[in-house]
Amino acid sequence: MLVNMMKERMVFPEYVIDIKGIDELKNIEITQRGIEIGSAVTATELQKSGIIREKCPSLAKAASYMGDKILQNSVTIGGNISIGMPSTDGLPALMSMDALLEVKNIERTRIMPSSDLVVGIGKTSLGIDEMITKIIVPYKDGLNGTYAKFLNASEVAIATAAVSYTVSKGKLRVVVGAISAKPYYFDESLLGWKWDGTIDENVRSVVEVIGSSIKPMSDAVASAEYRKEVSKILVSRALRELFGGE
Ligand SMILES: Cc1cc2nc3c(=O)[nH]c(=O)nc-3n(C[C@H](O)[C@H](O)[C@H](O)COP(=O)(O)OP(=O)(O)OC[C@H]3O[C@@H](n4cnc5c(N)ncnc54)[C@H](O)[C@@H]3O)c2cc1C
Repeated sequence: MLVNMMKERMVFPEYVIDIKGIDELKNIEITQRGIEIGSAVTATELQKSGIIREKCPSLAKAASYMGDKILQNSVTIGGNISIGMPSTDGLPALMSMDALLEVKNIERTRIMPSSDLVVGIGKTSLGIDEMITKIIVPYKDGLNGTYAKFLNASEVAIATAAVSYTVSKGKLRVVVGAISAKPYYFDESLLGWKWDGTIDENVRSVVEVIGSSIKPMSDAVASAEYRKEVSKILVSRALRELFGGE
């Protein structure tokens, strides 16, 4: 993407550093901290990884939308979330798993919630001298989940929905993306989700909460009202895919 922006003369960097050959940024492993993913892991590698497919399925599915199959060989998860564009698929999936980011500069390392990364369209909270080195999903047993995306005829995202829940069914996260500068995040208490309730009751409650909480943007791609309706449908479909029901 950076290369495309240079070709279009949108940016003029003095130096360009290719980080894709740094082994430490290419690992996917389970550690004491959870599931750790190097920031230079590509979209193709995410989809092929047994750990990601089994323990972070919403991310594996989101990676399958990160451009076409050829692009996915070069798109990195670190770059995908760092461009801060609403339509990118990595951040909603990571936020649905409460992912943390390991961020380094030459002097120090800090850990920040993935939900704090994007602060505006194309803007992140990273310092000019900082890079994301790892993504940490803080659930060693992984999460079940899925990811849904609705595109217009020109293949531009209208809305996306990432849903993840812990294997023990204690936590449920729903994240709605592509409708505003940063994704909307909901946990089970915000959603009114009852693990012992029926799927229809739960979906009704979730759709109501989503409908009254999100304030989508209107632009040349879609109106706010259309984005809201699509978001509700995507979330409802994703929940039914995971939990059953009509
Ligand atoms: C035509 C096209 C369609 C696309 N469609 C989609 C889509 O539908 N959904 C989707 O999710 N993606 C899509 N993508 C891909 C998406 O744009 C890329 O994921 C994104 O541009 C990052 O690419 P990259 O990993 O090559 O990063 P680069 O282009 O190398 O970097 C992008 C920016 O992030 C910074 N950066 C890179 N790595 C890090 C890091 N570890 N820490 C901090 N900053 C970093 C760079 O300095 C640069 O400013 C599409 C791309 C193209 C070209």
